[in-house]
Amino acid sequence: MDSPVKAEFRRCAVLGAGTMGAGIAAQIANAGVPVLLYDISRAVAEAALARLARTEPPAFMEPAAQKLVTPRGIDSDLAELGTCDWIVEAIVEKFEAKRALYASVAVHAGPAAIVSSNTSTIPLRDLVATATAAFRRRFLVSHFFNPPRYMRLVEIVAGPETDAAATAAVVDFADRRLGKGVVMCKDRPGFIANRLGCFWSQCAVAAAFAQGLTVEEADAAMGQPFGIPKTGVFGLMDLVGIDLMPQVNANLARLLGPADLFHQVNIALPFIDRMIAAGLTGRKAKGGFYRINREHGKRKEAIDLTTGEYRPVRNVVVDNGKGLLSQDSRLGHYARAVMLPTLAYAALLVGDAADDIQSIDEAMRLGYNWALGPFELIDRIGTATFRTLINGVELPVAPLLAAAGDRPLYADGKQLDPAGDYRPLPQPPGTLRLAEAKRAGAALLRNAHAALWDLGDGVCCFELTSKMNTIDTAVFVLLGRAIEHVEAKGRAMVVYSDKPQFSAGVDLNWLLGLARASDWQAMEDLVNLGQRSFKRLKYAKIPTVAAVAGLALGGGAELALHCAGIVAHAETAMGLVETSVGIIPAWGGCGELLARWQGAPRLAKGPMPAIVKTFEAIAGARISRSAAEARALGFLRPGDTITMNRARLLADAKARALALAADYRPPASPVYYLPGVSGATALDLTAGSEAKLGRATAHDLIVAHALATILTGGATDIMKPLSEADLLALERQQVLNLARRPETLARIEHMLATRKPLRN
Ligand code: NAD
Repeated sequence: MDSPVKAEFRRCAVLGAGTMGAGIAAQIANAGVPVLLYDISRAVAEAALARLARTEPPAFMEPAAQKLVTPRGIDSDLAELGTCDWIVEAIVEKFEAKRALYASVAVHAGPAAIVSSNTSTIPLRDLVATATAAFRRRFLVSHFFNPPRYMRLVEIVAGPETDAAATAAVVDFADRRLGKGVVMCKDRPGFIANRLGCFWSQCAVAAAFAQGLTVEEADAAMGQPFGIPKTGVFGLMDLVGIDLMPQVNANLARLLGPADLFHQVNIALPFIDRMIAAGLTGRKAKGGFYRINREHGKRKEAIDLTTGEYRPVRNVVVDNGKGLLSQDSRLGHYARAVMLPTLAYAALLVGDAADDIQSIDEAMRLGYNWALGPFELIDRIGTATFRTLINGVELPVAPLLAAAGDRPLYADGKQLDPAGDYRPLPQPPGTLRLAEAKRAGAALLRNAHAALWDLGDGVCCFELTSKMNTIDTAVFVLLGRAIEHVEAKGRAMVVYSDKPQFSAGVDLNWLLGLARASDWQAMEDLVNLGQRSFKRLKYAKIPTVAAVAGLALGGGAELALHCAGIVAHAETAMGLVETSVGIIPAWGGCGELLARWQGAPRLAKGPMPAIVKTFEAIAGARISRSAAEARALGFLRPGDTITMNRARLLADAKARALALAADYRPPASPVYYLPGVSGATALDLTAGSEAKLGRATAHDLIVAHALATILTGGATDIMKPLSEADLLALERQQVLNLARRPETLARIEHMLATRKPLRN
């Protein structure tokens, strides 16, 4: 899949500034590449760009990206296509309109430009049926998912005449620059993810009506038991738009051959037609299968599938003890009616929509956020058991399943093909999975909450293994042993896990236990252990690189800040958020962020600007919504890099670690010159005016004062050098004071109970 072609598209164009086109343009801009965003007229494109800047969750990773998008009109500006290397078409799903537009594009595009379509269902051969041979050579399908920034899948279809170099260039750009997981598909209707995803959702909706389930029951059965997002099926329909469902289904029904299993599940659903006619199309409208009733204090309601009336949502408890599929219950019956056909259909798509099972699994993981792909689910059930189950309901047995016997579909890093042979899983260069290192051998070190793995070339990986990768004594103990091990036997260490989150920080349950028991000695020991461990990490003789992705909060952010370098996935939520539970960072985080701001270029002279920046980030418990924002908040240093593709994060971190190892010397200990009480007073005044505006509470002011005391050096003056140890002592003193306050205890309890900060 990876290619030697390194596509450096200097400028791109997106045609069609609707939901998808605008989102794709934003992601191209997030990659730092200028992009022309076209719609029927320049005014329409300008309005679309204005909407794009306000979408939630944000389409742009940073304000600078927005400046790279230029609105343009198809009616007036097509000549500018001549300056673009890649042109993405994302206009309405009508092939006559698309074909007509391609004829104009062919006139204006430069000779080397590549053109691709974001169509969801139209086969490539139909799109280019009337195009010239020259156009067909430069044309392919690149199918993004909504929203393009956040959904990781891009499906690529190349036609028989598409130039291989053009395909390779788009694959490479989508992968490295746009951060997408690229799945190659055959030129079949709906490609992979929607072909299977629409089958599944149609099946799940139809079966819910047929068996008289409520929407909550169907969603509970379809969600967690199968590793499917908790929106289940009806929640997902609300999200994508219920009106899209009959359109896409009709397209698939028209394009798929008469023998396709899809026709059996694609039955008319008059209830849904009535909902669409009534404007109940989902979250974009006044409601769908669910709605928020604002007359009843934002009450969440669900539609009754028999009467069409809304009523308050009902909680459904799923007993997933011995697996829903084998239960003789209402939900078990439903799960079989949906998942057996869906998984049987997935097996039929091997060789039809995709070359292999791993492409289909990857498409469902990245395109529908399933935790496990359909073939991983079949392996969980067991191939022989699954065959018995589908035989029992007279579903077709695909050649793959017949060939499997009782062997698993995946074994030893290989995948089964329909001929019954295991073939290696492709491992694109520049990608690395910790799971691979784990299969290759036992952990070098391990305890209850952390492990150390060998990544080869003298690089080891320190992995957190607790829930949400929270940090506790076990983690610190293994961290110390890991550093000793790598100093003695290795060259560098990466801190990383394959999980979505880097670390949610200190284990709050543990902290709560200590606070409730008033065990202040244990609390002090915890602070001391954390400080010593993270400074040991900082001054290790070997370079350390934190590969952060997802959440890196509180103690998790401090862990990253103490590494010699950070490689951040583009989607990183990083923040020193301790104040939201009534305390301040006390494992060295205050001093580390302050030192970064003191070293920042382009900051005004004097001690206060760096202190104010650090104060704002910590007092406001600011969390970045991208790695670019983490850089703006001061967490990343100039040498720290951002990786767009999650699958490349570990490999990039390993490469950075090896580069640092070439002539590594641990950093010098920082010296701080801080203003003391006068500076703290200035920060207290700022916090006080926030309180007057109703934006800070009484306890916020106490916490802010503690933070101000640390960042301004306590009882010091600007002439007196303070050491790192002095700042650590201030952190210890202040955190232990705050921890004793009942307001802090209340905040921790509230956070654990609701996942939201208490404003006391
Ligand atoms: P949309 O209706 O939101 O936007 C289409 C835009 O194209 C409109 O702004 C329209 O003004 C513009 N346009 C420009 N030239 C046009 C022309 N000649 N004729 C008609 N419209 C023209 O559509 P969308 O949801 O962004 O979908 C765009 C494409 O992406 C479609 O092919 C669709 O199938 C595909 N797609 C959609 C999704 C999704 O979830 N919405 C997902 C994947 C793919």
